[in-house]
Amino acid sequence: MSGTPSGARRARPSSRSRRRGWERRLAPLSPFGGSNRRRGAGRLSIASNRLPVTLECGQDGEWRTSSASGGLVTAMDPVLRSRKGSWTGWVGAPDAGQEVLSRALARTPDRPPYSLQAVPLTAQEEDLFYRGFANEVLWPLFHGFPDRWNPEPRYWEAYRAVNRRFARSLASTADWDDLIWVHDYHLMLTGKELRALGSDHRLAFFLHIPFPPLHLLERMPWAGELVEALCHFDLLGFQTRGSQSNYLDAARAFVPGAFSHGLAHGDPILQGRAIRTGAFPISIDSTEFSAAAHGPVVEAMEREIRRSLGNQMLILGVDRLDYSKGIPEKLRGFDLALERSPELRGSVLLKQLVVPSRDQIPAYRKTKDEIEVLVRSINQRWGTDAWQPVEYLYASWSRSELLAHYRAADVALVTPLNDGMNLVAKEYAVANQGSGVIILSAFAGAAAEFGFEALLVDPSEPDSVAVAILSAFQMPMRERRARMARAGTTVRIQDVHGWVRDFLAEGMLAG
Ligand code: UDP
Repeated sequence: MSGTPSGARRARPSSRSRRRGWERRLAPLSPFGGSNRRRGAGRLSIASNRLPVTLECGQDGEWRTSSASGGLVTAMDPVLRSRKGSWTGWVGAPDAGQEVLSRALARTPDRPPYSLQAVPLTAQEEDLFYRGFANEVLWPLFHGFPDRWNPEPRYWEAYRAVNRRFARSLASTADWDDLIWVHDYHLMLTGKELRALGSDHRLAFFLHIPFPPLHLLERMPWAGELVEALCHFDLLGFQTRGSQSNYLDAARAFVPGAFSHGLAHGDPILQGRAIRTGAFPISIDSTEFSAAAHGPVVEAMEREIRRSLGNQMLILGVDRLDYSKGIPEKLRGFDLALERSPELRGSVLLKQLVVPSRDQIPAYRKTKDEIEVLVRSINQRWGTDAWQPVEYLYASWSRSELLAHYRAADVALVTPLNDGMNLVAKEYAVANQGSGVIILSAFAGAAAEFGFEALLVDPSEPDSVAVAILSAFQMPMRERRARMARAGTTVRIQDVHGWVRDFLAEGMLAG
């Protein structure tokens, strides 16, 4: 990026001074004898599919940036602001590269105070790499939906090419002692591509989605290459111990000799180099979230929502459109609850927000149609002149609207069939802080932290969801408050800043 605050790339110091520098940092930290790789304590260099800004071309032909949102930006932006460094990614518009980004940033007063490196993608690559390999192959397979995947060989070629381009961009912009932290399933080959370019940076990777069990992974013709490529990182982070253990099984199966030295903690070794793996459940910025949830605008909106509800209990669903989110399953569970428990009829409202996502992919359009048919059927079956059981919105809410709904909702109904973490559950726990109840799928990463606070369900069993809805409806106020207080504390104790700290410390990357 032109005008990068961190200035030009710093040259590698002479080998003598370099050795002194990194040996001083490395000596007390390394438990391994095998690695001869330098431990960096320089800047942080982040790579993810998308940059924290998006580029759009206006009608006047001028490119403008807008801030991207999402968990990753919330987590990494403050870290990069304080540590300095750079973020490498795609700007979300075909063919737009560094030049366009730099020009647009020069006109943006509140641009990030760290360097942004644009990796250009053609429209065809967006189609084959992003929509194709990432979202029609990896996403369904890693979430356990092999019947929904579309493993076209040309997708894989595009995935390789784009990963190589990311590696080239990182290698050409990272300082010699930068810590390179690559995020998520779009970029699993980047570590290996960096090594092929001669990089001896400390390389870390975090997978935001679940890592699948071996019996699913084996179905993919490129599984061995992917698993081996991941071994070129020094640290591999997963959301849960289950995903970590699935990865270790895969490394055992696909990478010959990976465990030849058999470390006590079971992490693999590749070419004499120990690879660290760990479970690092991602979280939210709880302080910022809680403060935003208690502002006057949000409070006024909450009052309005409560007024419109009258005496009805509000059950809230907030999900991106995705078959992994279990929205049809949630609706079937709700339908069964109404069938079984007449006391719920007229007394509850399920407000389901579905945030538009990936709707050019056929499987997503099919899920949307299925949801809409189910909503209509439930409303026809149980609705009366005075009461409609489901309010369905296919939209995106402003932050204030979302927070006001979190505060007003008596129940958060979170039922993914499989989810890396699920931040909605954590956001609700922090924002509500009243007498809300979390009904949570046992297959969300968050279930590992909310085992005692939430009502855990198997969303593929309508009976399980129906029983939990009735339990939430009948739960005494004192129990609701106690569970919610504990859930809020759980999130505050280990929020997103703790996640970053733990990850960097584990990777011996903390500066
Ligand atoms: N969210 C949003 N706009 C909305 C509703 C929700 O940006 O209209 C956010 C929500 O605050 C949460 C994220 O979307 O941070 C969803 O994260 P989650 O981990 O639950 O699922 P993901 O969509 O990342 O799979």
